[in-house]
Amino acid sequence: MSDMTHSEIVESLRWRKFPVLNDGFVCLVDVMGDDRSIVQAARVSYGEGTRKMSDDRTLLRYLLRHQHTTPFEMADLKFLVRVPMDTWRQWIRHRTASVNEYSTRYSIAINSMYATEPDAWRTQSTTNRQGSADYFDADAGQTFSDSERVFQQTARTLYEEMIEAGVAREQARKNLPLSTYTEAYWKIDLHNLFHFLALRMELAAQQEIVHYATIIGEQIVRPLFPFAWEAFVDYSLHAMTLSRIEQDFLSYLTQQQGCTLPITHGLFDAACEGAGSASTVERTDSRDPWLNGEWSLMNRSREREECRDKLIRLGLLR
Ligand SMILES: Cc1cc2nc3c(=O)[nH]c(=O)nc-3n(C[C@H](O)[C@H](O)[C@H](O)COP(=O)(O)OP(=O)(O)OC[C@H]3O[C@@H](n4cnc5c(N)ncnc54)[C@H](O)[C@@H]3O)c2cc1C
Repeated sequence: MSDMTHSEIVESLRWRKFPVLNDGFVCLVDVMGDDRSIVQAARVSYGEGTRKMSDDRTLLRYLLRHQHTTPFEMADLKFLVRVPMDTWRQWIRHRTASVNEYSTRYSIAINSMYATEPDAWRTQSTTNRQGSADYFDADAGQTFSDSERVFQQTARTLYEEMIEAGVAREQARKNLPLSTYTEAYWKIDLHNLFHFLALRMELAAQQEIVHYATIIGEQIVRPLFPFAWEAFVDYSLHAMTLSRIEQDFLSYLTQQQGCTLPITHGLFDAACEGAGSASTVERTDSRDPWLNGEWSLMNRSREREECRDKLIRLGLLR
């Protein structure tokens, strides 16, 4: 795509349906703006100052790095999406978009449901109450998929029988499962789309919405706004924050007697529990974060495991 002009890229993407899940899709309807329109808006505010940052790419990176985000609102994207209701429920929480959704009061509900493949059923995570962990084996998955198919057919039959009998569409729909697909036009500016993508392409998000967000990001936004996308990936999507406590804790760990990098899990856990080598020293200093309770947060599993993950990603813990 790199040899194509922006208008050629727009034309190649517009109305192209990117399939997601078994019957969902994402499709770009329209786009206003490109990397240059963001830069153009930024130059108005910086005026002469932008002479030093004549390179568009450098300027875009500077803007995102310093969270000067309003220029990114100058670009707008409009999508048509088909999404199962449970995923849509998460999607619609992003209030900074304009939405017009298929009406099941006005029309017969879309006759399509998200059916999970036998090898795609996930177990409940034991560490994250909101998340999933591994996959079920194929036999167990087949049983779930078979039961799901029967249930979805039963629910659809009940719905259609009620419609046939003259029950109002607005009432008959209440027994349709959350796996039923809905469609909507979804228009959002690039700043708020980046916020959506940062939250929904992230591992902590539910896998189904991650699929949608990843397609929007990588297949549509990336070719349309290559420099803005690069800056977003570097300063938001793949960036990491270290809290004040995490910075102090890392500094404490590396100063432990005998500590060589990478830090071991043993030292990390001992320090989290307040039983590191420093704990053998009598604690009298009120600034000692163990004594004043500040680091008790690191003894709780969530903060501790998130900190562990960050240090592993940085190659500092093994
Ligand atoms: C992993 C994950 C788990 C979640 N779990 C839950 C859950 O258990 N329960 C639940 O209810 N939700 C949950 N959510 C939804 C979450 O709380 C947000 O509602 C959702 O991610 C939308 O984010 P947002 O409000 O920042 O986005 P948008 O609505 O697009 O808003 C963008 C930004 O605009 C500003 N803004 C918009 N509206 C207002 C306002 N009224 N007041 C002030 N500022 C505003 C804020 O700065 C906001 O960040 C979860 C989200 C994620 C990603």
